[in-house]
Amino acid sequence: MDSVKKPFFNKVAVLGLGLIGSSLCLLMKQKGLAGTIAGNARSQATLDTALEIGFIDSAHSSPTDAVEDADLIVLAAPVGANKKIAEAIYPSLKAGAIITDVGSVKAAVIRDVTPCLPKEVHFVPGHPVAGTEHSGPKSGFPELFANRYCILTPLEETDPESVAVVRALWETAGSKVEIMDAAHHDRVLAITSHLPHLIAYTIVGTASDLEGQLRNTKSPDIFKEKTEEVIKFSAGGFRDFTRIAASDPVMWRDIFLNNKDAVLELLGRFIEDLTAMQRAIRWEEGETLESTFRRRREIRRDIIEMGQAGSFNPNEAEE
Ligand code: NAP
Repeated sequence: MDSVKKPFFNKVAVLGLGLIGSSLCLLMKQKGLAGTIAGNARSQATLDTALEIGFIDSAHSSPTDAVEDADLIVLAAPVGANKKIAEAIYPSLKAGAIITDVGSVKAAVIRDVTPCLPKEVHFVPGHPVAGTEHSGPKSGFPELFANRYCILTPLEETDPESVAVVRALWETAGSKVEIMDAAHHDRVLAITSHLPHLIAYTIVGTASDLEGQLRNTKSPDIFKEKTEEVIKFSAGGFRDFTRIAASDPVMWRDIFLNNKDAVLELLGRFIEDLTAMQRAIRWEEGETLESTFRRRREIRRDIIEMGQAGSFNPNEAEE
């Protein structure tokens, strides 16, 4: 990655100082990409923590103040917050500034943000496909983006130089950058990230409902024994679901509300496939099950070969 020409910004404003915002700030500090970093979050507690850790130089309770004179603005709050933030910062944006975002959905962010921006500001929508189930300003680490993909979804009219600058930022973070159409991004991520999270949230709920049912049994001893079994044997596949289901509820609420069409379409396909598996089990079609599992196992091998099976992560988890 040393061959990448490092960008430099006199002033960066990062709006949203959770996992992604703090990791990006730490990365910019580590690589010396910013003269100064101004941070904005909703709560004073987050601003205090960010200052204490030292990944921002100034803390602002108002995004409008934070962006003043900034060359680069990074929208790093949950995607549902972007419209209000963009409306608020509009009067303070410097001509020629680059604004980018890290949102997990792209078409809705473009829909919400673009109309609020003055013409002299360059918007380069982006999504670092990297994360953990942890959130907040203490969860960040600068290696989060290393060897991960970052997808940029510029519009036809987006200034190519600004796209090149944002690309250089992510490449300096160690990411592999891909340019994609926003609608295509949303469909791809619906199946690779959004649907798996929906399944995790659902299956953990199913297990917890089962616990609830056992709680209502007449014998408290049986209940204790059975609920302990759910926890005790969670070392199987269930544990991975509980890890994914620990992700931030607000962030995921906003993702599903803002990628509704793609998620619903792919959910329909998934339910069809699940029903086919249900049928194969009911009719004891062992060959169908085995050949399906065999083919799916190859996908895992491909992921490992592409170096996307794991990452450095002090919190020992990945998106
Ligand atoms: P996070 O850890 O929950 O942090 C969110 C940050 O945004 C917090 O600093 C929060 O402030 C601030 N915030 C929330 N609502 C706000 C509002 N209305 N106005 C201003 N600030 C607000 O979230 P994250 O995981 O970093 O995610 C941030 C963005 O990155 C999201 O758009 C998400 O889609 C995207 N993303 C996440 C992942 C992932 O795996 N987590 C991966 C790729 C992209 P307080 O702390 O004061 O509440």
